Amino acid sequence: MNKKTSEAKRKNGKIRKIVVDRMKCIGANACVAVAPGVFQLDYENLAYIVDPEAADEETLLMSAQSCPVLAILLYDENNKIIFPEE
Ligand code: SF4
Repeated sequence: MNKKTSEAKRKNGKIRKIVVDRMKCIGANACVAVAPGVFQLDYENLAYIVDPEAADEETLLMSAQSCPVLAILLYDENNKIIFPEE
């Protein structure tokens, strides 16, 4: 996967979009450890989204918070950023 971002929308709830900034990602694997159904590392050791619905919102927030370089961004239904807080 040779893309700068990996993005996926969610159908319900407060968190409606997940974006992984693959330019920032350092392959620390924290997001995969917290939410392995949602994130995986590709052959370049960069995270991408497998299934945006595979974890609840609390787990998604934890995975974004676990990223040492804040490469995981969470948005609400109005495309307003939820995490990291501005
Ligand atoms: S926690 Fe952050 S740096 Fe680590 S793999 Fe996930 S997105 Fe990349």
